[in-house]
Amino acid sequence: MGVAIRADLASVPDYNIPGMAPGAILLNSNEGPLPPPPAVVEAITRAAFEGHRYPQWFSDTLVGRLADDLAVPAERIAVGCGSVGLCRDLIQAFCGPGDEVLFAWRSFDAYPVFARVAGVRARTVPLDAGHRHDLEAMLAAVTPATRVVFVCNPNNPTGTAVRGRELHAFLDRLPARVLVVLDEAYREFVDDPDVPDGIALARHRPNVAVLRTFSKAYGLAGVRIGYCVAAPAVVSAVHKVAVPFAVSRLAQAAALAALDRPEEVRARSAAIVRERRRLESLLSRDGHEVTPSQANFVWLPLGEEAAGFADSCARHGVLVRAFPGDGVRVTVGLPEENDAFLRAADRYRATPVRPRAVRMPPTSP
Ligand SMILES: *Cc1c(COP(=O)(O)O)cnc(C)c1O
Repeated sequence: MGVAIRADLASVPDYNIPGMAPGAILLNSNEGPLPPPPAVVEAITRAAFEGHRYPQWFSDTLVGRLADDLAVPAERIAVGCGSVGLCRDLIQAFCGPGDEVLFAWRSFDAYPVFARVAGVRARTVPLDAGHRHDLEAMLAAVTPATRVVFVCNPNNPTGTAVRGRELHAFLDRLPARVLVVLDEAYREFVDDPDVPDGIALARHRPNVAVLRTFSKAYGLAGVRIGYCVAAPAVVSAVHKVAVPFAVSRLAQAAALAALDRPEEVRARSAAIVRERRRLESLLSRDGHEVTPSQANFVWLPLGEEAAGFADSCARHGVLVRAFPGDGVRVTVGLPEENDAFLRAADRYRATPVRPRAVRMPPTSP
């Protein structure tokens, strides 16, 4: 006889921890390819000297700094333990038993997990044939039980982005009681001017919460820090449900130091965007179907060949992320890492199975 674990947790997938692969090129987690700048590492080290003291509960210094940088009042900003921490906090703050969250599928795989853990129903709407959000269909899927809608923009794992006109039309027609979480983890890699800046949008729309992170463009995935910009009432609700002191002193110091170096972040993001374009053009030249991306990764809609393609890349020393049955997501790395991936993709093409266009099946999470 063991302890009585919640029976419904059986349906929550075990975390898929990438195995240790010494020497492999890691293009499977959308991390930045470079370590943090030395000044950021120094700031983390300095903060460690005060490691015996609790951090600021609500990261006040960082919130003040973000408020200045983004021209948003401090009462509209919540800092969290990664933006996934904030996803979870928002579900916790807005949903109870019987409520629903709504999101596209495929999208970020944390959404269904957090919904299940919270005991909330997840309703999903398939992406369209271009692997994009189908906002019309999402609007039609809103029910009286819907509390939160996630719009991942650009979408992980397909890299597609929702444009301003369609997003405004969607928000104009959505019931005001429904919170829209615009997850902008990849915002810094967007180069399409028609993709709206969620923070500008959240200023005038009280039911929009925007999530940003230091994990991708800032190269701080291992440090765990992100933030939310939303109406003051939403920020207070997030504060109420947050794990106390979840954002460490080290993480707050790292984020502050990173914000002191905007040119560094811009240069790194621009280099990733250049490499993304190069990857897209070389892959399509070689006959692979690639979905145009606005993020730091590319999506190959390989359908049933996804797992085989990823295995083949792994055998050639390059780890990419397979979503079996749907496609493969490849993080844009350093030029030589991307070259290694291109060679691995080439080797796959040399084998009898060839990538082909596959319409994404409406799988459920
Ligand atoms: C990577 C990612 C995040 C960021 O997660 P952190 O917790 O900040 O590391 C959030 N949303 C999406 C869609 C992501 O892909």
